[in-house]
Amino acid sequence: MNLILLHPGELDQQGQARISDPRRLAHLREVHRATPGDRLTVGVQGGKMGKAQLIELTRELAIFALEPLTEAPPPALPVHLVLALPRPRMLARTLEHVTALGVKDITLLHTKRVEKSYWQSPELLPEKIHQHLVLGLEQARDTRLPSVVLSKGFRPFIEEQLPALLGERRGLVAHPGMPMECPRGISEQTLLLVGPEGGFIPWEVEKLQEAGCQGMHLGPRILRVETAVTALLSRLF
Ligand code: SAH
Repeated sequence: MNLILLHPGELDQQGQARISDPRRLAHLREVHRATPGDRLTVGVQGGKMGKAQLIELTRELAIFALEPLTEAPPPALPVHLVLALPRPRMLARTLEHVTALGVKDITLLHTKRVEKSYWQSPELLPEKIHQHLVLGLEQARDTRLPSVVLSKGFRPFIEEQLPALLGERRGLVAHPGMPMECPRGISEQTLLLVGPEGGFIPWEVEKLQEAGCQGMHLGPRILRVETAVTALLSRLF
């Protein structure tokens, strides 16, 4: 927790914030080893960041006095990430990583090689997804939550969603063996598609290319989804 992310409902009129959830309280005690008087970095969900002084810390409650919050969160990456739904543990980690890296738009997509059972995972419950996004924001010192959309059919995605997504973005499909190398240091709005652990099937790559996406590779090493996404985002932007 490099940032204590506060919900607007945790602030009062006097400029104090109260937090009472066990996760953040335990983190304050055990990782920060915080004691009253300490100044810590805080941010309000969707808003600004700054410092706050810890006034009181008990097993049930932490009270902070906020200094004026004037710092804007860091800029977002110009990318909409379309991720074939990975297995639940990989999903949790990937959501955290990409949130920390500054992705604000995420679509989780069904493809042929996504196990159908993954769509039943409790990791996809809105509150679970929210938890992983919050961990990513706290890690990277950001306050703006990404939006996560579930797209459970490949064909409806291609026909109904993809044309609008590509209207104002360059589409790039990460797929080993493509002739084009992954571009470097771009700043244009991008739609980045990353396949499942078994990869996209050739038909899916064809459909994406027909819709206007370019296939590209990251070199001869086949990376795990979470590693590939991190490598792709850092190389692209
Ligand atoms: N088994 C698949 C690879 C799956 S890796 C195969 O051999 O084709 C999971 C996803 O990570 C891929 O679908 C792709 O989107 C991305 N990825 C991993 N390594 C990559 C590489 N070297 N180049 C491009 N994309 C890669």
